[in-house]
Formats: sequence, C-alpha cells, structure tokens
Amino acid sequence: MNFIDPRNISPKEFVDSCPSFGISSVNSRRLLGAIVGHGDLEPSSWVSKEIIPKKIREELTPLPSLELLESITSPIDGFQKLIFKTEDNLKIETVIIPLLKENTVSICLSSQVGCVMGCAFCATARMPTRRNLKSWEIINQMQHARSIVTSQNKKITSAVFMGMGEPFLNYKNVIIAAEHFCFPSINAISSKSITISTVGILHEIDRFTEEKRPFRLSISLGSAFDHKRAKLVPVASKTPIRKIIEAAKRHAEAINDRVMLAYVCMAGENMFEEDAQELANLIGETKVRLDLIEVTDHTGKFKKPSEQEFTNFRDNLAKYLKQPVVRRYSGGADIRAACGTLEA
Ligand code: SF4
Repeated sequence: MNFIDPRNISPKEFVDSCPSFGISSVNSRRLLGAIVGHGDLEPSSWVSKEIIPKKIREELTPLPSLELLESITSPIDGFQKLIFKTEDNLKIETVIIPLLKENTVSICLSSQVGCVMGCAFCATARMPTRRNLKSWEIINQMQHARSIVTSQNKKITSAVFMGMGEPFLNYKNVIIAAEHFCFPSINAISSKSITISTVGILHEIDRFTEEKRPFRLSISLGSAFDHKRAKLVPVASKTPIRKIIEAAKRHAEAINDRVMLAYVCMAGENMFEEDAQELANLIGETKVRLDLIEVTDHTGKFKKPSEQEFTNFRDNLAKYLKQPVVRRYSGGADIRAACGTLEA
C-alpha cells in the first residue's frame, strides 16, 4: 500500500491509517504538523524527523503543489489576491483579507474551478472550465497563503469558503480541508472561525446539520422572491426559497445559535421595501444574522445601491425583520478580488 497524502483524507482517517505504515499515533500527528501545518511537501524534511520507517521512506515522492503564478495586492485596502495554476493547467484564485485586528487575516478559499450555479452577477459562473478541486488543492491554497502571511508577520485567524465555486457541490473535499484547518496538531484555527458558504444546496445544508459539523454555515439568498431568484441565482432557485429558509431554521435550532444568511445587494433589483418585508415573513422567528454585501460586477449589469437605497433597505429590515443585520465589506474590487469577481 502506498503512503497516502494526508491532505486527501481527513486528519482522523490519516491518524487511523498510520499504524499500517508502521507509524505511531504520536508520529502521525507530527507528520500532519509537518506536511499540512508547516507545508513541508518534500519527503526529505520528514525523513530527517525519523518518524517514517525506512521501507516507506524509499517509496516517497514529493507531494503535489499548486503553482503560484501571481500575487496582487490592492493599494486601496490591502486585499491580496493569489492566482494559482493547477496540474491540469487551470487557474484558481485565493484572497488574503486583512482583518480589523492588527496583523490578522482571513483566507478566502476556492472550492471549484468555475461554477455551475450560474449566478447572474458572478464572474466565476462565466468561466468555461469547471471541476471540483481536490482536497489537497484546497489545503494547498491555505499552505501558500500561510507562508506569505507568516513572512509578513501576520497570522491567519479565520477562513471562509467564499471564493470560486459552490462549496456544497464539493462537500466531501471541502469538509476534509476544513477538518485539517482546525486539527490540533496543524497550527490550527478554531472550527468556529471557518465559514462555509452556500447559495442553497438543500440536501447538503441538511447533511451538514445532521452531521453536526462544527463549522459556521452561511446561506446566500439572492432574494426572498422565487421569481427574482430565478433571474439572479437561477440554478439555486430550482429549490424554492421557503425550503431553503426551512433548512436554515433546522440548522439554527440544531446549533442553538443564529444561522448566517448573506444577501447580495443590487440597485433596483432586490432592495425594495417589499423585499425586506418578504424576507422578514419567510424568516419569521428563526434566529438569523443577515450579512448585506454590495454587489461588485465589472460587466456593469448589476450596480451597487446608492447610500440612500442601502439605508432605506436597512431601515426596512430593522422595521420588519428586527434581527441583527451587518454590512459586510467586500474589498479588493480594484484587483478583482471582491465577492463575485474571481475569474482566473
Ligand atoms: S456566486 Fe458562488 S455559487 Fe454563485 S456562481 Fe458565483 S461562485 Fe458559484
């Protein structure tokens, strides 16, 4: 049996499989720390740790890595976009997001090349090639980002699956990556600081809830009206919004906490009083936190709301919804790193 790249299975599976390679439990965790946490992909660096039996060492080859093609930093807000090439010559992007607390950042990860969800305001949807990323490709984004961030004397304190792709169409690999990010021997970040975003894959939302995954869930709505969702988030709209909100309710009840809902604000599209009212009707007593994100669409088809339109919408949400509403900054627009603009 060949030695397995630990990034392709969950950390627990890796630890459990190690005895069959003659590697002890303690050493399997050291290996995870070296390979996944520290990003040592060359076997020579693990061999020097003398934690792998000789007969396995002789079979080892370097573990694969994405090629970092370019790193672009916004002079406006410090968002940093990393562009990678995959082994099959496709491109994906990752964004390093500066946080308010000094020297801390969040990493926005891609889970797919392109995206089949077809959201009308999203550049990723227009990419011609589409495939799921393997879990090592997701983890490797974090490894590259960590190395860059460490050289800047900064620390990664959170991760969001809000880059290219619909994470719940690549559920297994996204969960494997998230499990690694919070595994104790891997320079870990807290599971509560890992957010997985979905535009509404109903059965996977329920699966996530039933499996009691410890990560945060964010459900992006587009609109409270199915006829508007059919235009804005066409594939997701095949599931009625009422069913998505019911799944959000089940999740909120299971975690006994607020479920995060995200709402992309588009001028003249989904910010009328009736939109706020209908959203409040649907949500009812379900405990939510609503994140408002202003659209960034370089094609010019969808426009950001004016300050007045935004304020009116927020006032209407305060009137009808009466739950926490947060205006979320979507930065890096000048380097095409904002939400919905990733298009390698
Ligand atoms: S917004 Fe998200 S789900 Fe929609 S097309 Fe873009 S990447 Fe896919």
